Amino acid sequence: MPEGHLIHRYAREQHAALAGAVLTLTSPQGRFDPAPYVGRTLQAVEAYGKHLLYHFDDSPALHVHLGMRGLWLRYDDPGVPPRKGVRLRLATGVVAYDLIAPIRCEPLSGDGERALRASLGPDPLRADADPDEAVRRLAAAGGPVGAAVLDQSVWAGIGNAWRAELLFLARLDPEARRVGAQSARRLWELAAHYLALGRDAGQVVSDPNAPDERWVYKRAACRRCGAPVRRWELGSRTAYACPVDQPAARPA
Ligand SMILES: [Zn+2]
Repeated sequence: MPEGHLIHRYAREQHAALAGAVLTLTSPQGRFDPAPYVGRTLQAVEAYGKHLLYHFDDSPALHVHLGMRGLWLRYDDPGVPPRKGVRLRLATGVVAYDLIAPIRCEPLSGDGERALRASLGPDPLRADADPDEAVRRLAAAGGPVGAAVLDQSVWAGIGNAWRAELLFLARLDPEARRVGAQSARRLWELAAHYLALGRDAGQVVSDPNAPDERWVYKRAACRRCGAPVRRWELGSRTAYACPVDQPAARPA
């Protein structure tokens, strides 16, 4: 599942490759109508949590959400025929990006774009994110911290792999409730730091000395101490935690 770090990576790369160009938009699969964008110049590609926004001159923003299985493929030869099932191709004279299996690919009205932004909490990879607001939202969220960090209206961009690894790094039990402001701020700082590493590396990085390893995510044993990793359902996804490094919070 593409989490925020990959969405920001796509945005950065595509912005560099496409912004300022009049794009050719096509829908090889026929499920997207490119008419609003014909002849328009792409101004910017923006990532917000797990959402991508393409801003064109005098056109509604194009909104893409990859969901669980979506992805972008890049071709340095825009003449390459698209594979079956491509929802959208963005092409210039020198590069093409093919969008596969998104859950959203749609023009957004101004109201729609405002509603989307209003629905999202601070995104640790955005320069305009307000850490105080992030702390406030997490501290105010009801329920377990492991569910709150997946709630995109609390923080935007965290998915299941980051949840597991960030809570490990913060030594927080995913079931902990009412994490204080200090723990919330520590977790936010970890998120901002590690998601940036992940964006730059193109994968979840929770140990810069072992970028292909995870501490607890999808592991049988904790990579630090060897204890059997706990796994259970939390917030509709499988949670992973080390019983030693993330001891159960004492009841408040
Ligand atoms: Zn451990």
